[in-house]
Amino acid sequence: MIYDVVVIGAGPAGSTAAKYLAENNINVLLLDKSKFPRDKPCGGGLPTRVLKRFPYIEPLIDSISFGSSTYSSSHRYKFDLIREKPLLLNVIRKDFDYGLVNLALKAGATFLEGKTVIDVSIRQNNAFVILDDGQSIETQMVIGSDGTRSIVAEKTNLSEKMQALCIALVQEQPMTPKQLDTYYTSKRLVHLFIKVQGIAGYAWIFPKKHCVNIGIGEFQSALSNSKPNISLKDTYEKFIAVLKEKKLLPEEFIIENLKGATLPIFPLKNTYRDRLVICGDAAGFINPITGEGIYYAMVSGEIAANVALKALAVHNSSEKFLSRYEKQWKREFGKDLEQLRRFNYQWGENTEKIVRQISSNKTLAKLFVGIMGGQLSFSRYKYILYFAYLYASLKNSLISKRKTAE
Ligand SMILES: Cc1cc2nc3c(=O)[nH]c(=O)nc-3n(C[C@H](O)[C@H](O)[C@H](O)COP(=O)(O)OP(=O)(O)OC[C@H]3O[C@@H](n4cnc5c(N)ncnc54)[C@H](O)[C@@H]3O)c2cc1C
Repeated sequence: MIYDVVVIGAGPAGSTAAKYLAENNINVLLLDKSKFPRDKPCGGGLPTRVLKRFPYIEPLIDSISFGSSTYSSSHRYKFDLIREKPLLLNVIRKDFDYGLVNLALKAGATFLEGKTVIDVSIRQNNAFVILDDGQSIETQMVIGSDGTRSIVAEKTNLSEKMQALCIALVQEQPMTPKQLDTYYTSKRLVHLFIKVQGIAGYAWIFPKKHCVNIGIGEFQSALSNSKPNISLKDTYEKFIAVLKEKKLLPEEFIIENLKGATLPIFPLKNTYRDRLVICGDAAGFINPITGEGIYYAMVSGEIAANVALKALAVHNSSEKFLSRYEKQWKREFGKDLEQLRRFNYQWGENTEKIVRQISSNKTLAKLFVGIMGGQLSFSRYKYILYFAYLYASLKNSLISKRKTAE
């Protein structure tokens, strides 16, 4: 069988691409090295914009959080935001990813699971995807959506040796609805701990319908801002102990099934070449401040599929034609990723002060949570955020001067 498009990797990026192509009557093969349903270490927190952009995911949402509490590193400062509207949509990755695969299949895609791609060969008139069992699959175009440390990017010389990473640990533990109500209220509050235990990163608690997801992530690119020589596992253990003290976890909570994972945090310099585009984590589309990536994976998967569709229609899968893929993802979310990039290097600097200022000003808290939660675009709201921050800082310093004078 010769395919129009082979999509490598059936995470959110690949399934979104395959669904879009199949809906447009393209002969598409989606393939993955895992057998589905498969798990993926992740927080599983989706910004509401994912649902806005892809309304069909609604049945795949596990639960909704209507607020958050954010803590400074010392825990001296904290700000809460409780809303009527959803703040974060929670998914169980095993179910969410399987659901997306099934939508692609329903649309008409072919799915090959449990097959690992070991090479991709781009030729003048076609491309071949080589599997570990020796099979060679012919296609017109390839979409590489095989996640972090992408073999597709590596074999086509698009990967970069020094790709910056975030290293993370995460566990998802069952909890009864009563426990979830007790610890995270009926609003299912998300808890965020900035620069927890001094690391250049943060920790999270995402309460779900029948479990709680607790994780910690450290940005390697900002390591000089963190305390050295403590393993992330030790930091995680200390963090769990603090959560018990703070009555955010039951005493009997145990650390088990803790999974480690890495995330690429900056986009590849080049995300296309003849007959090939790379999307999702494989292309490094991750928010470099929060580590959020599912939205970018799905949007880039859709853009990749749309461009592939056009390329097939005009029989032109050249690098030049496919350059429009990069233009489109840059237009849609590239500016945000680029502008957040420089803050990544400063991860953890002045967070104590920042959380203190935010905790005293509701507008600032809303803006901050909106941007970090992916509801507001950073490039669009950054000046409003700066001015709100400046205003809060000035106001706070005036108040403290007045208090000293009294
Ligand atoms: C600890 C952690 C927490 C996170 N929390 C969040 C969060 O709360 N919210 C959020 O939005 N994002 C989060 N992310 C990021 C998010 O998980 C990713 O951005 C997202 O999964 C990217 O989707 P993807 O489709 O590009 O890749 P993936 O979901 O990684 O899918 C890639 C697929 O490719 C397959 N594959 C890999 N290699 C091959 C091969 N050689 N042959 C065939 N198949 C292959 C894999 O089996 C996999 O199924 C988190 C990441 C981590 C590590």
